[in-house]
Amino acid sequence: WANAPVHLRAILEGSRGRDGAAALVYGDERMSHADYFRTAAVFARRLVDDYGVAKGDRVAIAMRNHPEWVVAFFAAAGIGAIVVPLNSWWTGAELEFGLTDSGAKVLVADSERIERLAGVPERLGVAVVAVRAPGPLPAGARAWPDVLGEVPGDADLPPADLAPDDPATMFYTSGTTGVPKGALGSHRNMIANILAGSYARHRALMRLGLELPEVRALLDALPPSVVLCVLPLFHATGAQTVMLPTLAAGGTLVLMYRWDIEEALRAVERERVTAITAVPAMISQMLSSPRLAEHDLSSLLTLGSGGAPAPPALVGRARARLHELMLGQGYGMTECSATATINGGRDYLLRPDSAGLPVATVDVKVVDPAGAELPPGEVGEVWIRGPGVVLGYWGRPEATAETFTDGWLHTGDLGRLDDEGFVYIVDRAKDMIIRGGENVYCAEVEAAIHEHPAVGEVAVVGVPHEVWGEEVGAVVHPIPGHTLAEADLRGHLDGRLAPFKVPAHIRIVDRDLPRNAAGKLLKRRVKAEHGWDAGS
Ligand code: ATP
Ligand code: MG
Repeated sequence: WANAPVHLRAILEGSRGRDGAAALVYGDERMSHADYFRTAAVFARRLVDDYGVAKGDRVAIAMRNHPEWVVAFFAAAGIGAIVVPLNSWWTGAELEFGLTDSGAKVLVADSERIERLAGVPERLGVAVVAVRAPGPLPAGARAWPDVLGEVPGDADLPPADLAPDDPATMFYTSGTTGVPKGALGSHRNMIANILAGSYARHRALMRLGLELPEVRALLDALPPSVVLCVLPLFHATGAQTVMLPTLAAGGTLVLMYRWDIEEALRAVERERVTAITAVPAMISQMLSSPRLAEHDLSSLLTLGSGGAPAPPALVGRARARLHELMLGQGYGMTECSATATINGGRDYLLRPDSAGLPVATVDVKVVDPAGAELPPGEVGEVWIRGPGVVLGYWGRPEATAETFTDGWLHTGDLGRLDDEGFVYIVDRAKDMIIRGGENVYCAEVEAAIHEHPAVGEVAVVGVPHEVWGEEVGAVVHPIPGHTLAEADLRGHLDGRLAPFKVPAHIRIVDRDLPRNAAGKLLKRRVKAEHGWDAGS
């Protein structure tokens, strides 16, 4: 990779003529690397010839994790267009926002998204390519197979003039704290993130005491990875930490239509999956599945989580059921092209509360509200710098100027470093509870509650209070089949947390907590559901 051209087209070209392992697996459909390259090359040609897509034009994708998602992504990026992945959970109005906000020229969408959009693309003048849409199509839309036509045995990508800093992607942030923002990512940003993951794998092995040549030999001896993609491709984590590195390395991407624990376990066994990256809630569900032991998971080498705080108690639970060195967690965000820090291997077992060391391509510092760097141990805002930090937010000069200064990305997350440089994320600045002048970090309270063996999910939020300003509230969903009483949980927290951090309000519920498509807790909705929002 050291001498590789720095753009996504090179990754696609790497699949050209590659035999052996499949590139894409979806249920019982399989596509070889060579076929995937040819299909993407033909679709790229159609984008140029039939739709007039030129460098810098936006091509939106709105569908489930179908193989066509991947093909359309690389075809568009390979000719210098900007790919705009839209959230497939979005309503018609939200999808319309994505199309107008990005000014998309073409939309590649499946039937459900096309139905939800009900005529909007025609009104906006956006051309529609319909994927897996058996029914009648809206006026002007063309079906994917018709657009592709016959795929010849040897196809070439249309020529394109690409530079590393050209924009390539516009992933929307998850919209956890407000309206999603389009983060404009360059080809270099994407490649930097792939490299970061690869270096992190080397580092985890070297920290076990191996020398670099041994690490290289070990990694070279492994068969190409087979990665189960349980995350949606439209978010940075799914596309950038799962799809891109897998295909760049000639591996196999196993796609799932939706998250389903049973189906995921079956897929691991059937496809001999070597790696899974998921959000912590998915890992937690997998580990508490009564079926875990019935499946042959011996092919699995890594099981990583990211995107939300992973409760340290998860490590203990996972250790009891899987090989302890396979676990890891990463921290990052859309604005830094996915990964900022990774904690894996033995480091993670020793420091299960840390998000890990910055990846090789990232510098991290912790600053006070004036932007001055803080020493290890002190909590402040986490800032990030490096080749993965995106060009800015699309069409939002003010938000861009506030968030990106002198190459530093202001993450909006609160954290601290230890003396060895490990990063600890304590909360989102927007989520931190201030109770009568004392800061309470939700993640710390959530971690303590998670140590109770019956706890499946927990959300800690601020509850408005006349005197204190805010109090701590917790909503807990026990692991299915377990019972939990408030008094029992209070007994568990006694001595684990300082009294002012112990939730004044505890609600035990028997339903999943509200999450968005990125698997993140929607704390605003949790507050509203329990009458804990301001003014109520
Ligand atoms: P929005 O910016 O639209 O409100 P979002 O911040 O959830 O949504 P993403 O870019 O998908 O959008 O998520 C990045 C955020 O997720 C980080 O800023 C951080 O708050 C949280 N996060 C990611 N990984 C971790 C982790 N390992 N530990 C704690 N928090 C994490
Ligand atoms: Mg964010």
